[in-house]
Amino acid sequence: MIAAQFPERKLIDLHTHSALSDGSAAPEDLLAQARRLGIRWLAVADHDSVGSYPRCDGIAAEAGIGLIPAVEITSVNPMDGAPLHILGYGVGPNSSEALESELAGVRQARTDWYRRGVQRLRAEGYQVTWTEVLKHATGGDVHRVHVMHALAVAGYTTRFKGYLYHEMSKPGAPLYGHVGYLNPDRAIDLIHQNSGVAVLAHPAIAGAIAACDLLVEMGIDGIEAFHPSHTPLVVEQALALARGHRLVVTGGSDYHGLYSEYDTTLGCPELTLENVEDLLARIHAIGRIDVTASPGNGDPDLPAAAPAVSPDHPLLRLPSRG
Ligand SMILES: [Zn+2]
Ligand SMILES: [Zn+2]
Repeated sequence: MIAAQFPERKLIDLHTHSALSDGSAAPEDLLAQARRLGIRWLAVADHDSVGSYPRCDGIAAEAGIGLIPAVEITSVNPMDGAPLHILGYGVGPNSSEALESELAGVRQARTDWYRRGVQRLRAEGYQVTWTEVLKHATGGDVHRVHVMHALAVAGYTTRFKGYLYHEMSKPGAPLYGHVGYLNPDRAIDLIHQNSGVAVLAHPAIAGAIAACDLLVEMGIDGIEAFHPSHTPLVVEQALALARGHRLVVTGGSDYHGLYSEYDTTLGCPELTLENVEDLLARIHAIGRIDVTASPGNGDPDLPAAAPAVSPDHPLLRLPSRG
């Protein structure tokens, strides 16, 4: 075994995707991967979907993995209309009808958009069918990568997120488009209404970091400082913003399995247990779900329990730090 593949510090990952959005692994398989790699804290943050948590909850508990409910809401940058992603931690269990229906609307709009995208591709001569695309969208929602998978099967590319993907995603190209996404203030409100902590995802992508001050005014609670797309300078900028605005710091691999853009497995080496504790405390502070009354939570050294993480969860007693 190559030890470097399993560095001891890769214990935490707060940004992963399952096949319920545009990851390749079913939620249960993602949990199995996390278990195999020794991940201790995990968040499955599917795009505009809170469906993975109930499927992973029991498996995580059995595997000794602290599973933090999460979602990644697709939004738009108010400054330039570019895509902007907002992570919601603590969101999932007991989510409101408003959240479920607004997210369902986003998912439907996206699927419809790509159905028309396939028509646009066919008009340009690509022999690809909607039936083939649906075969790869095993979670039910269609994302750009599912169309790319169909294009790969048809022989037009060898990579799901390679040159063709980026060409197809440019303005005016068949798979370009941002339709029906929520405004960031609405996304943040929905997260807060569902006892969640709102975090600006991968701020370096599409220049989202420039909107940080505006997002703080809208009530954003955190910033994803650690992400495979981040240079050391971006990490520094994100950490400075976190200090300046008292934002919680998160990070993750943005793992999509075979559909990953970055050559990284599960785990975010920069994250520490203190980051997890801060996040859990923030979720707890904002949360309206009362689960902290369980017996056996008398240890003052334990982090405050998150709404969906049992206060007597064995991982809350992890002795090692950092
Ligand atoms: Zn994202
Ligand atoms: Zn993501």
